Amino acid sequence: MNLFSEAKKVIAGGVNSPARSFSGVGGEPLFFKSAKGAYIRTENGRELIDYVGSWGPMILGHSFPPVLSSIKKAIENGLSFGAPTTIETKLAKKVKDFIPSIEKLRMVSTGTEATMSAIRLARGYTGRDLIVKFEGCYHGHVDSLLIKAGSGALTHGAPSSPGIPKSLAKNTLIIPFNDCDALKKIYESYGDQIACTIVEPIAGNMNMIKPIPGFLEDLQDISKRHGSLLIFDEVMTGFRVAKGGAQSIYNIEPDITALGKIIGGGLPAAAFGGKDKIMSHLSPEGPVYQAGTLSGNPIAMNAGYTTLKHIEKPSFFEKLHLQSEKLMLEMKKIASKNNIPFEVVYEGGMFGFSFTKNGPIKNYNDIANSEISLFKEFFHLMLEENIYFAPSPFEAGFMSSKHTEVEIDSTLSAVEKVFKKIAKKSI
Ligand SMILES: *Cc1c(COP(=O)(O)O)cnc(C)c1O
Repeated sequence: MNLFSEAKKVIAGGVNSPARSFSGVGGEPLFFKSAKGAYIRTENGRELIDYVGSWGPMILGHSFPPVLSSIKKAIENGLSFGAPTTIETKLAKKVKDFIPSIEKLRMVSTGTEATMSAIRLARGYTGRDLIVKFEGCYHGHVDSLLIKAGSGALTHGAPSSPGIPKSLAKNTLIIPFNDCDALKKIYESYGDQIACTIVEPIAGNMNMIKPIPGFLEDLQDISKRHGSLLIFDEVMTGFRVAKGGAQSIYNIEPDITALGKIIGGGLPAAAFGGKDKIMSHLSPEGPVYQAGTLSGNPIAMNAGYTTLKHIEKPSFFEKLHLQSEKLMLEMKKIASKNNIPFEVVYEGGMFGFSFTKNGPIKNYNDIANSEISLFKEFFHLMLEENIYFAPSPFEAGFMSSKHTEVEIDSTLSAVEKVFKKIAKKSI
């Protein structure tokens, strides 16, 4: 029985989220059955070293025993009450402790809800409609954020999916990531109408791209000068690149931060938060409406809380960073030995690599112009060696604390073999 054909009969496209579909690399997605530590096991019994980690949440590795026991304990008390529980306060305090720009927060269930609510709050707080987003940054499938650059000289966006009204897209202005001039220009033209700019401070949904020096600083200054809010979408980078997220690395204080992925420890939880004077505009205290039946679900809160408790020592991220560094720098060495054009980037437990001569990658166009076909070949050859990287050249990679020397070394031996094969073919 082909599992994917069976799924396709009853699930749209056979998957419940398109990133899983292998449409970025060709072929059919694997079906997984279980996972432990750095390893994930398919339905037909193959064991792979996993660098996807459920797209970010599994920073402690899969099935981390303390997280599992906290969940087991919590479910004995009931699954959901739709009323306050103390674990929500406990997790909120922990988040605030890790990310001091968050004075108050609100829990939601997905990253999409977090950014959607953050934008509504920014619009409600400023009384303005326009928002600015960067080409290639992904903030979940929020209507106002599924917008691409429009045609024409100026920057009013166009829907990047059918089903999104053009009238809505017009309120989203799109500029290239890392482009300080475009940022200045857009604020000169529209500054007093812009409610907020939303950005992934380290981009992780167009491969991985770091901000160039000055970019985030400019963003902060310009936003302040125009009375517009700065939203950091740290759904991916929060508790991933550093304990305090990308904002702690670049020393920037956004007005609102969106969190997801690791905050739920593998269960559906997310949050958005910021300055008290902004957050108090949310209902029931203020007029901006926002709600959720399963928001702050106690099981997810327990998984998140236990996860955060295990990443709080400074040595945790120091070690994780060294693991990412080793994997990336060694891969780059092997590539250059084989004359394969290759760029790498990493921070904490997050990394990115791309096949290009034109590095470092600075924005969406750079990655779109990289050698996508080489990536596809690499992905499938690595999968044959039982190494599972994200099935798309536009995604980042994720390291967990369970990826030890052993896993990294066997990944590197596989890379050695695969790069040799690729080099031979291209001669
Ligand atoms: C994953 C992600 C989202 C969306 O989160 P979901 O839980 O999938 O809705 C938003 N922003 C960023 C930066 C992400 O990586």
